Amino acid sequence: MSEKTYSNFIEEIIEKDLDKNIYDGRVHTRFPPEPNGYLHIGHAKSICLNFGTAQKYNGKCNLRFDDTNPQKEDKEYVNSIIEDVKWLGFDWGDRLFYASLYFDKMYEYAVQLIKKGKAYVCDLTAEEIREYRGTLTKPGKDSPYRNRSIEENLELFERMKNGEFADGSKTLRAKIDMSHPNLNMRDPVMYRIVHTPHHKTGSKWSIYPTYDWAHCLEDSIECITHSLCTLEFADHKILYDWFLEQLGIYHPKQIEFARLNLTYTVLSKRKLTRLVNEKYVQGWDDPRMPTIAGLRRRGYTPESIRDFVEKTGITRSDSVVDYALLEHCIRDDLNKKAQRVMAVLDPLKVVITNYPQDKTEELDAENNPENPNDGYRKVPFCSEIYIEREDFKEDAPKKFFRLSPGKEVRLKHAYYITCNEVIKDKNGNITELRCTYDPQSKGGWTDDGRKVKGTLHWVSAKHCIDAKVRLYSHMFTKENPDDAEDDFLDNFNQESLLVLKNCKLEPSLKDAKFGTSYQFLRKGYFCLDKDSHNNNLVFNQTVTLKDTWSKIVKKK
Ligand code: ATP
Ligand code: MG
Repeated sequence: MSEKTYSNFIEEIIEKDLDKNIYDGRVHTRFPPEPNGYLHIGHAKSICLNFGTAQKYNGKCNLRFDDTNPQKEDKEYVNSIIEDVKWLGFDWGDRLFYASLYFDKMYEYAVQLIKKGKAYVCDLTAEEIREYRGTLTKPGKDSPYRNRSIEENLELFERMKNGEFADGSKTLRAKIDMSHPNLNMRDPVMYRIVHTPHHKTGSKWSIYPTYDWAHCLEDSIECITHSLCTLEFADHKILYDWFLEQLGIYHPKQIEFARLNLTYTVLSKRKLTRLVNEKYVQGWDDPRMPTIAGLRRRGYTPESIRDFVEKTGITRSDSVVDYALLEHCIRDDLNKKAQRVMAVLDPLKVVITNYPQDKTEELDAENNPENPNDGYRKVPFCSEIYIEREDFKEDAPKKFFRLSPGKEVRLKHAYYITCNEVIKDKNGNITELRCTYDPQSKGGWTDDGRKVKGTLHWVSAKHCIDAKVRLYSHMFTKENPDDAEDDFLDNFNQESLLVLKNCKLEPSLKDAKFGTSYQFLRKGYFCLDKDSHNNNLVFNQTVTLKDTWSKIVKKK
């Protein structure tokens, strides 16, 4: 019999559980974000893994808000998370849950532990708890409150719940082992006193559960089978299991995988929050941000993000993925989908002296050579056009195949033109070119076998529309902005946004739609930004056309 192969180690565990009929043949996962920030591309990995695994095994996946800390959480984040998971293409059916729905149940479970002598109310401050905990090499010390009677603990805990004590003055702690080799087992805190209203439960509660106490209960209450989390929780698994064993309730299996890291950016809500609050970027959906909302506004598609996540794979060892792979995935997707158009980002005027001044022709332009069914559109051509300033050089080197004095180039979809004269202002800046066109070259070719190497994009000066275009580069100047001792914000790339204010677009783009991507020929993929209104168009560059990923792969 041949060995069965699995696409990743998590599927191997799940399939073995299915074979043994553990969990009655069910697969039930959950994606458990804390609503204290917007989701980022790292969360996309967890979303695709949790929802994707459930789909694959005909199981279910819950969307569950881990809303146990009212001091940092907000309804705005809840709404953005719902929107982002949906946009990525996943559906939780009627299983949208909140940890706060279980606060009563969690309280009951805590009372059970107190009654079993497994939890106690402690009056040490947070700092004292830290001191008493010890270190990896030094055992901890018992809290002086550790041996309170069950009755006293029950009474104090109830009074904590009723709001009788000040923030931070008491905690409920599990009574485990202050000399346990795993620090998480040294009487971990289960409840803190926090007098802050909660976005779901209002001011009903004055105590809130910690992650370690809450998470295993949430999973158990929802009958999750496989609780997939990132590696930093591996050291907490022993506690996850301890709580559930002590209570003797349904016990899911926690499985850890490596988180996604990406070069030239940070994937931590705490750091992304600083970028927003300290105004390095314009908000959570700033197109430079690695958030789902930022990527969407930048022009990324759900398909490209899912493809990216799949390509990075599921492992148990930490690694950093090259940003170029993410760009490769969006290029690959948009190459198939995006309509081609012409846009001049840095315009230089060209007057075609032998073309009738009052004439306009509507030329056929192919919408997408990758997809012939996309057909053709009309682009207007007349005696005055714009080309890209960088496509002209007065003293052109030999290898420069674009326009220069006396040279002939092809205008995409239009004609051959030859440059005859360069007009300059009094400072010597080029303001205009005078060219002639060849009427025999309509459509961009002739039948006399003439070789014209360069092909330029262009727009009609009389018909084009104006727009602003935003170009982006990496948000940080270092591949790993977290690396050094310095503050990661010191590595913020001050040139990560470049706004071009005088761009000229072909007239078809006046009907550009939000959420649609366009390839500006030779310039990359672009999409309309939400800052656009009426005649004030703003486009974001999603990505350039040059694929650096294929080069990186070849080198490897
Ligand atoms: P951050 O570290 O950005 O603050 P978090 O882990 O605190 O993230 P949660 O809201 O708790 O954010 O995350 C929800 C789920 O997403 C968790 O299961 C978490 O393990 C997972 N997750 C978070 N970041 C990543 C990442 N970079 N790669 C893969 N999964 C992640
Ligand atoms: Mg977290």
